[in-house]
Amino acid sequence: MKLHFIFPRWQKLLESRRDLAETLSGYQIGDFQMAGLGACTAAGAVPAGHSVTLVDQHVAPVDTSVQADLVCLSFFTPQATAAYQIADDFRAQGVKVLAGGIHPSVMPDQTLEHCDAVVQGPVEGLWETILADLAAGRLKRRYQGASAAPFATPRRDLFQHSKYLRTGIVQISRGCHFDCNFCVVPSHGGQRVVPRPIDEVLTDIVELPYGSFFFGDENLLFPDAANREYRRELLSKMAERGLRKVAFTANYPHFVTALEADDLELLAAARVRQIYLVAGLKRPLRDELPDPQLVARVQQLRQHGIHTFASFYLGNDDDPAPVEPLINEFCERTDTNIAEFIIHTPYPGTAAFSELDRAGRIIDRTWEHYNGANVVFEPLHESRESLLDRYISLWRAFYEPITPAEMRRRYMRGFGRGVFGVDRRVAGRPDGT
Ligand code: SF4
Repeated sequence: MKLHFIFPRWQKLLESRRDLAETLSGYQIGDFQMAGLGACTAAGAVPAGHSVTLVDQHVAPVDTSVQADLVCLSFFTPQATAAYQIADDFRAQGVKVLAGGIHPSVMPDQTLEHCDAVVQGPVEGLWETILADLAAGRLKRRYQGASAAPFATPRRDLFQHSKYLRTGIVQISRGCHFDCNFCVVPSHGGQRVVPRPIDEVLTDIVELPYGSFFFGDENLLFPDAANREYRRELLSKMAERGLRKVAFTANYPHFVTALEADDLELLAAARVRQIYLVAGLKRPLRDELPDPQLVARVQQLRQHGIHTFASFYLGNDDDPAPVEPLINEFCERTDTNIAEFIIHTPYPGTAAFSELDRAGRIIDRTWEHYNGANVVFEPLHESRESLLDRYISLWRAFYEPITPAEMRRRYMRGFGRGVFGVDRRVAGRPDGT
């Protein structure tokens, strides 16, 4: 069988907001390309003996004349507009189309209006059945993955690496036991954290063709005992192996403040150099940013060589007053390395989307607008125009005083020196040793 994987395009910030392009072009923010994980992980789960190709629509055009027994699309909500068009084009030529990933998992009925079959949840463990059904001409409409399925090794060899920022994504788990009303992770990956075996994670890191990587799951810093134990073992082993790769991880302010002193030591020893701090999403900015414990923790992280890439969410119903003074003060006091500003976006399949939909506040259902750069719902405390204006002003206020050269330095501080090209320290040696 010949399987053709496609990672559909989604609009990056600068494509959505041309009015910001002048401020941000040359800053490697708002339009950078990273090799995504979904399609290449699904491809990695395909049993031996089948032919697999992959096109990332961000860096190459989709060729609908390609010969394939099955076109496989992996996408999340902002990609759904492009994905549906691709599916329609292939199906018009009689090619079967299978869809998986976050959006198809939570919106299977809508996905099936454009695709022949949908996988809900992880595809690992399903390929033998899917391909046997396809060969017999009995492809089912729905396949349900299991969150406990083994983890596939991503087929990163399918990417044209020269087209991307030289940093990768590494998966350490599936699912989540928290029930955040804005999040699709539990619906897609299950309602408990299923950890990926640590040896597999280490192998994945060693084999990454980049000198830096981002842990794609937040649970690395979760405070509960199981995640804490996993974190400590993984970080200790990374340090013991002497991996010369720079790591980057994400979390919410209250989890970052809950870290213990030895966690900071372990993160630093494992060469974690940046934390992506997501503020204003789980809790309102007015509660999170003024917390002196958070400011102190970010300063302590800096003392350990760990910088902050802060992501500020705007438009939270619980943030009635302007948050700009809080953001500015926080960035100043913590010497934030990189910042980004995101407009709250209720994703379909979440409780937040359902609540806003019931209240008649969803005003835009064009999925490519669900990228954090558009106002897709009616804000509670201001007009859509006002929220958008504040969003644009915040980007400008943060970046206009920074030169592109300084921004490049900041990127290298957080992602390692090789992020823009071949780093001699890692070239030719997969683990950089
Ligand atoms: S937002 Fe984070 S903590 Fe909340 S459910 Fe999603 S993955 Fe879990």
